[in-house]
Amino acid sequence: MQTPAPFEYERASSVDGAIASLQEHGAEARLIAGGHSLLPMMKLRLATPAFLIDINDLDELSYIEEDTAEVRIGALTRHAELLESDLLAGHFPVFRDAEQVIADPVVRNRGTIGGSLCQADAAEDLSAVCAALKANVVIKGLDGERTVNMDGFYIGPFTTAVGADEILTEIRLPLRQGAGSAHEKVERRAGDFAIAAVSAAVWLQGGTIADAGIALGALGPTTIMATRAEELLRGKAPSEELFAQAGEIAKEDCSPLPDGRGPVDYKRHLASVLTARALRRATARALHQEAN
Ligand SMILES: Cc1cc2nc3c(=O)[nH]c(=O)nc-3n(C[C@H](O)[C@H](O)[C@H](O)COP(=O)(O)OP(=O)(O)OC[C@H]3O[C@@H](n4cnc5c(N)ncnc54)[C@H](O)[C@@H]3O)c2cc1C
Repeated sequence: MQTPAPFEYERASSVDGAIASLQEHGAEARLIAGGHSLLPMMKLRLATPAFLIDINDLDELSYIEEDTAEVRIGALTRHAELLESDLLAGHFPVFRDAEQVIADPVVRNRGTIGGSLCQADAAEDLSAVCAALKANVVIKGLDGERTVNMDGFYIGPFTTAVGADEILTEIRLPLRQGAGSAHEKVERRAGDFAIAAVSAAVWLQGGTIADAGIALGALGPTTIMATRAEELLRGKAPSEELFAQAGEIAKEDCSPLPDGRGPVDYKRHLASVLTARALRRATARALHQEAN
C-alpha cells in the first residue's frame, strides 16, 4: 500500500493555534513538520491520522541561539541548518558529526530536530546527540510549558513524554566548562539509519573527567543512556584503558534487537568499539578547546 489513508489538512499559523487544533481533534490528529518520518509511515499505513496539522509556517520555532547558560534550538530547525551552524559546531561538534551522516540533502533540507526527537526511533541520530549532551526539551500545551530532561523524554519505542495535545518547542543545551563531544556511527551504506551509533560528551576539570554523557543509538528499543559507563568515567583521568572499559560496560548494558542490519553479537561489538572511539574523540576535542 503506497498511498496514505484519507486525511484532512490544516496549516497552523501559531504555536497556540496548533495546540488548540490538537486539542480539538484529539488522538486522530498529528503534527507534521518535515514529514520525512511521518509520511513514509502514512504511506505504509503504519500511521493513519485523520487530521494533519502542518507547522512549517511557524518561523518562531526555527532558530539556533546562545545565551550565557545554554544554546537554544527551535523545534522546527532543519537538519541542514544544524549541519551548517558554526555556533553549534563550536560548542557541540557532536552535532556536525551526526548531521554529516544523517540521510541525504533532500531529507536534511526538510527534516527537523523536533520531528526527529518526537519520532523516537531508536536508530535516530539526534536523540543520541541530545541525550549525551544532557539536553532539556521544552514541551508546550494548553496549560503552559514544562521542561523535561532527555533522560526522561523517551517512554518506550516511538513514544515520548510529549502528550497528544502538546508540541515540542525547544531544545536547550547547557553550556559547561571543559566540554568535548563526538558521534560515531556504523551504517550499511551512506545515508542509511545506523546499525549502531554512539554519542559521547565529556566535561573535563583539572585533567580529570568531571562528568560524561554516553547515549547509544539503534542498540535497544529506545535511545539508551550508558549510565554505568558514565559513572565509571567520573573523577578519573582520561586514558585508552578507561575508554575501553567504558566500551565493555556499554556492550553489556545495551539490548540490541536482531534485524536486517545485523545480528546481536555484532551490534554489541559495535557498542563497545564506538563508545571507546566516541570518548577518545570527545576528550581530544575537550583538551584542544582547553589548550586554545
Ligand atoms: C531516506 C531517509 C533516510 C533517513 N536517514 C536518517 C538517518 O540516517 N538518521 C536519522 O537520524 N534520521 C534519518 N531519517 C529521518 C529524518 O531525519 C527525519 O527527518 C526525522 O526523523 C523526522 O523529522 P521530520 O521533521 O521529518 O518529522 P515528521 O515526519 O514531520 O514527524 C515525525 C513525528 O514527530 C511529530 N512531530 C514533529 N514535530 C513535532 C513537534 N515540534 N512537536 C511534537 N511532535 C512533533 C509528528 O507528529 C510525527 O509523529 C531518514 C529519513 C529518510 C526519509
